[in-house]
Amino acid sequence: MKTIYLASGNAHKLKELQSALDLAGLSVIVSGPDAIGGMPEVEETGSTFEANSLLKANGLREIGPAGAWFLADDSGIEIDALNGKPGVISARYAGEECDDEANNDKVLREMIEVPHNQRSCRFRCVLALVGHDVEETFSGACEGMLLSKRTGTGGFGYDPLFQPLESQFTFAEISLDEKAKISHRARALIKLISWLKQQDV
Ligand code: IMP
Repeated sequence: MKTIYLASGNAHKLKELQSALDLAGLSVIVSGPDAIGGMPEVEETGSTFEANSLLKANGLREIGPAGAWFLADDSGIEIDALNGKPGVISARYAGEECDDEANNDKVLREMIEVPHNQRSCRFRCVLALVGHDVEETFSGACEGMLLSKRTGTGGFGYDPLFQPLESQFTFAEISLDEKAKISHRARALIKLISWLKQQDV
């Protein structure tokens, strides 16, 4: 049975991936970095989600067993009126030590004069899978509009500012189940699963 080591210490993410792969009928064990000594420090120096997800997956691969696969994700929001920013620096847009509130405030300030019809944006997620015989990336996006004020109290990150095209509610107003049907992460995962199925895993 194939083992995929996920470059995330988040037990919830591990469980979520395992159950998605189980549901797809794939014989894969999902394990975390702790099983192989912990996630090594990886600097996200890439200018694309692809590059950064590959950096993280390869960083974990360096300490893992030879026959295994290693999976990492990178994600963020691209705002067209800001030429694709915050993009790969979504988590630290307002500075290295910032939080979601500061990031949202910065985006709202920069977008203050942009009219509604020019506020298109998207969440993007790239999953990178690497191993001795594998180097693949899978990208998923969710298109939407950036609102001019926070709406909703759920979710995290830029969720209160993001209204997907498929909904009249923001990501901070819909349930996790609803979000999982249309999210950038879910869409990247669907592509990964379909690739794994083709490999006869
Ligand atoms: P990372 O991929 O964990 O480095 O996340 C990058 C950053 O993008 C997060 O810290 C959030 O600010 C933002 N982000 C990524 N996905 C989402 C999402 O689903 N909702 C809200 N913000 C997100």
